[in-house]
Amino acid sequence: MLATDAARELIEQRGRPAVALALREVLDALRAELLSGALPPDRDALRAEALARLPRKVSESRPAGLRRVINAAGVVLHTNLGRAPLGEPALAAVVEACRGYAAVEYDLDRGERGHRDALIAPLANAVLGGDDALVVNNCAAAVLLAATALAAGREVIVSRGELVEIGGGFRVPEVIASCGARLVEVGTTNKTRAADYQRAVGPDTGAILVVHRSNFALLGFTEQPTLEELAAIARARGVPLLVDLGSGAGGDTRALGLSAREPLSRECVASGADLVMVSGDKLLGGPQAGVVVGGASWVARLRGHPLMRALRPGRLVLAALEATLRAHADGRAARDVPAVAMLARTPAELRALAESALAKIAEGGIPDGVRLSLAATEARVGGGTLPLEVLPSWAVRVDGVAPDPLAALLRAATPPVIGRGLDGALHLDVRSLLPSEVDDLATAVTMALHKAVATGAGPKHATRD
Ligand SMILES: *Cc1c(COP(=O)(O)O)cnc(C)c1O
Repeated sequence: MLATDAARELIEQRGRPAVALALREVLDALRAELLSGALPPDRDALRAEALARLPRKVSESRPAGLRRVINAAGVVLHTNLGRAPLGEPALAAVVEACRGYAAVEYDLDRGERGHRDALIAPLANAVLGGDDALVVNNCAAAVLLAATALAAGREVIVSRGELVEIGGGFRVPEVIASCGARLVEVGTTNKTRAADYQRAVGPDTGAILVVHRSNFALLGFTEQPTLEELAAIARARGVPLLVDLGSGAGGDTRALGLSAREPLSRECVASGADLVMVSGDKLLGGPQAGVVVGGASWVARLRGHPLMRALRPGRLVLAALEATLRAHADGRAARDVPAVAMLARTPAELRALAESALAKIAEGGIPDGVRLSLAATEARVGGGTLPLEVLPSWAVRVDGVAPDPLAALLRAATPPVIGRGLDGALHLDVRSLLPSEVDDLATAVTMALHKAVATGAGPKHATRD
């Protein structure tokens, strides 16, 4: 197709990559129409149709691939929506560090090469504990690096109660196998004792790994040793105790109004863990990153491993992470880290935000038969963190329009709005909404409501529930 005269002419004007991309989209559309029976299976006719559609496709403006969206789903750390939104200080740090050059690996005092984590480690240690720290692309990478550097060709001991899938197919037993380490399972699903670990440690042990149950709960007839007990066993045998913590709270989650308390990284270090691994974009509220903190000699082992070079983040991430850690270190997280601020919102604040969103939407004019109201909802932390935690929240509830077509119209808005269907009505939960997004949300909702009514998803078709 690219060799036809028509395509060649377009290639002269717009370049081959743009024409090839447009042609691929035209052919995909034709293929779908062919399969649905909308087009006859006629080779020449299809070819002519493709060439007829091509010029327009090439000149169409292309919607951005990665787009900003408004999260009105009430899930604060929504993994599919990029987890934590960055605060202004973190955004400013990214711009400052990335517009020109930055001393990522350059020691300005000595005028020579430095190392990437030197700048961030003191802050990471202040917030997360430990004597040294390093940063990789995410917590999964941190686990991979630690298990590879410390236990490749040797054994990793893990409780049967912690052989979990963390998400997206990332399963602890498979990760350990992929590092070339051998998994040694101890205990049972519900009960594992210190003596189980004690018996399993031997000359081939590379590490003891504790995986925090961050995305599920184990209740009832259960038992697990304390980190102190495990640290004593590890220390006596000279093997490292690793804690895959995941959640990475910067401080006590109960101080934010949550009912559960996530273990803190610095408490794990204080209890004797040699290395603790946390996510940058869960409760820490920063960019996607994995932070490893712990004893300096163990961190040095990881830093010196060849895999480190493949897992290290760039300066966009380092700049955002440093600013986020600084906000935690300075006690400004509830103001400067949006995810922390969202978790800390009180029901009264949420109700006021929902009221202002409703008023703003109403200003744009609500079609006849459509009714907006405030509804109490239950929001979630998300990101596989604190799965049992119910966050009381408020939403704008939309009645009189079928929720699914309305949700689809909102996803097609600019910027797209992601809401949530509940009791046969679309809800726009404000727990995960930034106050600065209220105007865009209102514009999108007003337009979507008018479109929904015009296309027949309005009052007479609304589902009754
Ligand atoms: C979320 C989580 C991970 C994965 O973290 P990413 O930063 O998403 O790679 C690993 N371990 C635990 C215990 C987690 O909760």
